[in-house]
Amino acid sequence: MSSVSKVACFINGEERLEDNVFEKFNPATGEVAALVVESSQSLVDEAVMAARAALKGPWGKATLEHRVDALRRLAVLMQSRFSEIVAEEILDTGKPIAAVATNEINRAIANLNSFADIALSERIEPFRTEMANGASAINETVRTPVGVIGIVAPWNLPLLLLTFKVAPALACGNTIVVKPSEQTPRTAVLLAKLALEAGIPAGVINVVHGHGANAAGSFLTAHPGIDAISFTGETKTGEAIMRSASVGPRAVSMELGGKNPALIFSDCDFDAAVTGTVRSMFDNAGQVCLTTERLYVQRPIFDRFVEALAEKALALKPGDPMDPSTTMGPSISAEQQAKVLGFYERTARGGATVITGGGRFEMPAPFTNGYWVQPTIWTGLGDDAEICRNEVFGPCAHVAVFDDEDEVIERANNSEYGLAATIWTKDSDKASRVARQLENGTVWINCWRVRDERAAFGGFKKSGVGREGGSWSLNFYSHPKTICRLD
Ligand code: NAD
Repeated sequence: MSSVSKVACFINGEERLEDNVFEKFNPATGEVAALVVESSQSLVDEAVMAARAALKGPWGKATLEHRVDALRRLAVLMQSRFSEIVAEEILDTGKPIAAVATNEINRAIANLNSFADIALSERIEPFRTEMANGASAINETVRTPVGVIGIVAPWNLPLLLLTFKVAPALACGNTIVVKPSEQTPRTAVLLAKLALEAGIPAGVINVVHGHGANAAGSFLTAHPGIDAISFTGETKTGEAIMRSASVGPRAVSMELGGKNPALIFSDCDFDAAVTGTVRSMFDNAGQVCLTTERLYVQRPIFDRFVEALAEKALALKPGDPMDPSTTMGPSISAEQQAKVLGFYERTARGGATVITGGGRFEMPAPFTNGYWVQPTIWTGLGDDAEICRNEVFGPCAHVAVFDDEDEVIERANNSEYGLAATIWTKDSDKASRVARQLENGTVWINCWRVRDERAAFGGFKKSGVGREGGSWSLNFYSHPKTICRLD
């Protein structure tokens, strides 16, 4: 046990190792992979104080250009430490290197540059105001930092999702305390260390570790020294955090759960729709908030489509995360694996036809005790079945048949969630018509998970409060101040 590495908090530019630690397991093997500091209330207090002090220091006085340069230096430094970041992310998540190295970390780095560009381009033009006495004034609205931002992050795309928050928060001149998921503590600390190396002053990014309720997560979100809270995670957790945020009150940005539909019309490009839908169901072992968990396929192609999906699901290859040919990783934890297998068991018992999967993968050593679950496809249940309503966050979906456009729109919208939807058809008028009627924050037409940091991102209904991306992020991480002077 003593050889297991420890993951420290990072406060005011220094690593903080404390005696109170919890075990973090490697999802691919089930072995203890790290001992992580479980932050006490007083450690969280220190982190918030460090962030508050840093606001009064050089960072608080830095110009937008200076902050944007710092973000770009951080991006360059991250690029130069790319393999180290990839290795740390894989240790925490067990994800295949093909996904982490070709997609996630590149996109995390790109986010720093994108928000640097957005902050520079989204300046608000001043207004000339004519006055009754014939004189005029200039009204200029400038962005000022909100203060100390508390960021609470999930485990599914640890560094990537963190950068969607850290980059605009820093561009706007705030300081930060991050509480990464207890499942994925490493890359947040690495990001904070690299930021210091890139010249971002000590105390601007602080990281505390630990669990959520009655632990580091709630210590942070209830802390009176936090000025705004940015959260990504489950809807229920979002509700608890909003209750904490009501004291103050503090602004919240909430990216929450989903139960995302795909609408597959019989006039689609069949092969593209199969390939795209398989990605949207099984990428990251289904642990993406945008994962498709409900499919509606038009009757003429239903049987052929289900068969083609099953064939591709069976071709996915779980295995050593460091093997470039591995295409499927494990669930993040034993709890998540049990949650997914619980859905599998209840769905089969509820009368679904199991097209493929339905259990755990039997893996060879050293992966025997990892948290592997099979990609799973069901048919045959009604829209009110548990599997068609509740988010699983695993590699699985129920496929239902539909006949016409109005019917499928109504069924796709019949959900508490409204994060994302996907439409597959070659008829572009129909695609636009359907997209406008779907109650989702993002609708993809003949593609999936193509994101532009300048566009709005977030959820309708129980999938979120507020938006990330472009000016929406800048509006959350800054207070507008209007300065008026006579012309
Ligand atoms: P989670 O809500 O369990 O945990 C997220 C974070 O909140 C963790 O850091 C956790 O420690 C912390 N936390 C838990 N309880 C808390 C409390 N009472 N007070 C303060 N902090 C608390 O979510 P998860 O399991 O890490 O992530 C999966 C969920 O995230 C899924 O529902 C998924 O859809 C959602 N998600 C949404 C988006 C999006 O952009 N909408 C993106 C990724 C994930």
